[in-house]
Amino acid sequence: MPIDRAHDYREEAMRIGGERDVGDGRRLEVLDPYMGLSVGSVPLARVDDVRRAMTIARAYRPRLSRHERAEILTRAAGAVVARRDEISALITAESGLCRKDSLYEAGRVRDVLAFGAAAALDDDGRVFSCDITPHGRQRRVYTQRDPLLGVIVAITPFNHPMNQVAHKVVPAIATNNRMVLKPSEKVPLSALLLADILYEAGLPPPMLQVVTGHPAEIGDELLTHPDVDLVSFTGGVAIGKYIAGRVGYRRTVLELGGNDPLIVMDDADLDEAAALAAAGSYKNSGQRCTAVKRILVHEAVADDFTDRLVERTRRWSYGDPNDPQLDMGTVIDDAAARLFETRVDEAIAQGARLLCGHRREGALYAPTVIDRVRPEMTVVREETFGPVSPVLRFGSIDEAIAIVNGSAYGLSSGVCTNRLDVVTRLVNELQVGSLNVREVPGYRLELTPFGGIKDSGLGHKEGVLEAMKGFTNLKTYSLPWPT
Ligand code: NAD
Repeated sequence: MPIDRAHDYREEAMRIGGERDVGDGRRLEVLDPYMGLSVGSVPLARVDDVRRAMTIARAYRPRLSRHERAEILTRAAGAVVARRDEISALITAESGLCRKDSLYEAGRVRDVLAFGAAAALDDDGRVFSCDITPHGRQRRVYTQRDPLLGVIVAITPFNHPMNQVAHKVVPAIATNNRMVLKPSEKVPLSALLLADILYEAGLPPPMLQVVTGHPAEIGDELLTHPDVDLVSFTGGVAIGKYIAGRVGYRRTVLELGGNDPLIVMDDADLDEAAALAAAGSYKNSGQRCTAVKRILVHEAVADDFTDRLVERTRRWSYGDPNDPQLDMGTVIDDAAARLFETRVDEAIAQGARLLCGHRREGALYAPTVIDRVRPEMTVVREETFGPVSPVLRFGSIDEAIAIVNGSAYGLSSGVCTNRLDVVTRLVNELQVGSLNVREVPGYRLELTPFGGIKDSGLGHKEGVLEAMKGFTNLKTYSLPWPT
């Protein structure tokens, strides 16, 4: 398979204390999901490697000025733009995401870096005058945000190999913290490339160390090491809940799975709705926490809508992830594609109707539309993390709200309508972290607050600004202040 290698990824190494540690020879092979060929290999860390990273991080006290942090992040943003093709080729090689998706991801990483640079310059401290009550004094209370005393551990999923990493690393740098990162073992190379870009931009290596390996071997040490003050995790619900039970008395940010609905009301522009449904279901091979995973359509327009969705789905091209013309590559591996196949088969056996797609070849799974899906079917009760569009029909807004809120998940949502009464009800009644009107559930800026409720997440929200708050301790001090 042609992998555009401006840099040779075949022999990558952990970044501990800035050293390209080659470990003791145990390595993890990274395979491309399309052809199964080796993209590279990374060291398999042992518990001792994790402890060494913690010691280095703990001993280092970052003293970068706001200007210096902003400069590093700005230089890194420039490097990401300059190396966009190389980044895209690597993301595609190790994840199977198509080049359109990986180019888009490189752009998002740039945005995270640029927003982090701007936010680093902004002191969000507040001032409270104290002479505002009958028993007030002539003083002022000030707030300031300090970096954490201990180390931040970040654990990231496979689906956005570099952008998920950027969302942990950039707020940590912007707040002068130290982070030990464990990227997904399925896509570790993009994380190492981002770390290198940051070092080249001037980041002191002890502020970011990357440990690669099997979670079964090093996971618990990362979660329980006494120098860790905060665990910031993005991934599935099962591991998230395991982490919640394991970390004990320390701060935790859990960004977990989603089961996001797109609600299509009877007044919707059906062409727009079908376009949003297809893009929301199939971009990034359907592997976004905020992908459209359930399409709730008013029964009055359901036949017309599904015709348009099927038409768009048939046009959604997929195949070799390296083909720059295609709209979709593979999913992360054969096992994931087989799981979608099984769930769709089960739904069909229970009465759902297959309208198009549902063909699998290795890790390639065709964009698939199934109609007349019911909420209790596994394909929509569980998170189906792939390019499947399940259509559920509803008769009233109350029914739609009940279906959405009947899920264990509560990440994001979208609605296609122009009715203000519907929008206000959904904003107030949906049990989710966000709602986008006439947009896909996944729409956001890298800057804006992001995160779910219920099984979709716990702890401080993400997005550059919120993550910076979550990565700091808020301190107040007061001064005498005659007025
Ligand atoms: P996953 O939960 O399988 O793995 C996530 C990370 O956890 C990986 O780095 C993995 O190595 C690590 N891990 C596994 N076992 C561990 C253990 N015992 N201790 C410590 N770490 C361990 O998730 P995935 O399959 O990589 O990613 C897909 C999931 O991530 C989906 O559910 C998706 O919805 C979710 N996700 C959520 C968001 C969000 O912001 N809410 C964003 C992206 C993805």
